[in-house]
Amino acid sequence: MKFYVTQEDDCERCGGAGYVEHPAWTRFYAEDDGSWPSAMIWFREQGWHETPDDEIRCRVCGGTGVIERNVELNQALAAIGLEPGRLREMSVFLHMLNKALEAMANPTVV
Ligand SMILES: [Zn+2]
Repeated sequence: MKFYVTQEDDCERCGGAGYVEHPAWTRFYAEDDGSWPSAMIWFREQGWHETPDDEIRCRVCGGTGVIERNVELNQALAAIGLEPGRLREMSVFLHMLNKALEAMANPTVV
């Protein structure tokens, strides 16, 4: 049996923003100095009836800014320093920590 967890990474295309520069604006900036009146003229010459928004939703992440993928649980635990062999060690530590916290929360008067 295999278990998976979800790993989230920032989208490499948009850097986690969820949007990118409109490709038409990218072309415009490459061809022009970027001033507003010349943008209106340039877009009209390119067949646009209106100047488009300068940013569009990222197609790679669908606008979330995040890429999700399934990672096997053992790989995910190893990635955060919890090798399967250390889990028993950790559970003993957590059990002791829990007992100590219980004792602090319920002090007994001697
Ligand atoms: Zn993206």
